Amino acid sequence: MDYLDLDLKLSKEDILLKKTANEFARKVMRPIAKELDEMTPEQVIATGSPFWEFMRKAYALGYHAILIPESYGGMDLTSLQQTLIYEELAWGSFGLAVALAVSSFPAFAASMTAEKELIEKIIVPFCENRDASFIGCWAITEPEHGSDTLIPGYPTFSDPDIPSNCVAKPDGDDYIINGQKAAWVSCGTIATHAALFCQIDPRMGHAGGGLFAIPLNIPGVKKGAPLNKMGQRDLNQGEIFFDNVRVPKYCLIAGTDAYEAMLEITLSATTSLMGVLSTGLARAAFEEALAYVKQRNQGGRLLMNHKNVQTKLFHMFSKVELSRQISRAAYVFNQNTSTPAEEYSLIAKVYGTQAAFEVANDAVQLFGGNGLSKEYLVEKLFRDARASMIEDGSNDVLAISGGHKMIRHYPRRD
Ligand SMILES: Cc1cc2nc3c(=O)[nH]c(=O)nc-3n(C[C@H](O)[C@H](O)[C@H](O)COP(=O)(O)OP(=O)(O)OC[C@H]3O[C@@H](n4cnc5c(N)ncnc54)[C@H](O)[C@@H]3O)c2cc1C
Repeated sequence: MDYLDLDLKLSKEDILLKKTANEFARKVMRPIAKELDEMTPEQVIATGSPFWEFMRKAYALGYHAILIPESYGGMDLTSLQQTLIYEELAWGSFGLAVALAVSSFPAFAASMTAEKELIEKIIVPFCENRDASFIGCWAITEPEHGSDTLIPGYPTFSDPDIPSNCVAKPDGDDYIINGQKAAWVSCGTIATHAALFCQIDPRMGHAGGGLFAIPLNIPGVKKGAPLNKMGQRDLNQGEIFFDNVRVPKYCLIAGTDAYEAMLEITLSATTSLMGVLSTGLARAAFEEALAYVKQRNQGGRLLMNHKNVQTKLFHMFSKVELSRQISRAAYVFNQNTSTPAEEYSLIAKVYGTQAAFEVANDAVQLFGGNGLSKEYLVEKLFRDARASMIEDGSNDVLAISGGHKMIRHYPRRD
């Protein structure tokens, strides 16, 4: 938390929120994330695992409802305050911060409508939940579709010859869902509810999708095994299968007419949030490296007294600061406009995750051999950062999407 915040307008309340979140990240998240990192994916989610201790403590503080408006029982935070807290949580653990954020997605998505049933069945119970028995996820990636599901507006997005792996068909007052979502769904195997993105009209390709908020403890839903992966091992992930799953029509938040626009709004929030979280991770790696070079002696002097170490530190610090500036700005702007400029969120995600990876990589380098040892936090930060460059859209594909938006929207005429 010992960094200079360039925002001179931060209120006392903003600073207090940041401080409280940092304390939680330091005292609760860091030690639990370290334990979870060394467990199997099954152990991570087993009853009695410290993962649940983290979730219960976070829910008790209301951190599960950061994104939800107060009128529904959420934390009543400005979008700037949301970024302040999320940066601290990701400083504690990127994977656990993601688990908490995705858990709110069904309620967050549902809060974009005023549908009474969704308010009563999903949003309010989620906000009131304190024992982490209500867990959400957002399920968009499919076995045969990753990147192509995240580029609304791109020509392939409306290609009818690209069939989806998960389809919802209207049936009277219900929809019937069949198919599957990929093993990458965060909180996939533990979620009780999902914000489900799936195809309704195949003639429109991915653009013919719908966004649903649904319970998962209903007939026909099955879960896969928890995924074993390199980084963010404290984040549960896994497949969700749908076999003739019947959900009422009120679960549909956006149908085919609004799907592309709704996805763009959602991605404007998620990708800039990824930038905010990456800032927390990058800052954690920078701080570890800074502390280390102040106490490690090499060549007759402390590492910090070598000039190349000083320039490396400067470039690491620059990346942390630049990541914060673009991520905060993009998130706050896009949360407070009805026509988000997604390209700025894309910069936040692509720059932020790349910066976090480079800073974590430099931190490992500065630690020398120790940087490869599990004794030191930077080893985990490096692996967590690597995963983030694919998470929520591979950076290469998001850059293609951003470039396509440049061509369509610039120079701006408004
Ligand atoms: C830690 C983590 C958490 C995640 N959480 C979730 C979640 O909560 N919910 C969810 O639904 N999904 C989640 N995902 C999935 C994630 O969104 C996808 O992994 C991502 O969109 C990439 O899809 P893919 O893995 O299928 O890769 P692919 O799309 O198969 O891409 C493979 C490679 O090909 C490149 N490529 C693909 N298309 C093109 C193209 N048109 N032009 C050029 N290159 C291309 C990509 O850049 C990439 O390098 C998560 C992933 C990770 C790693």
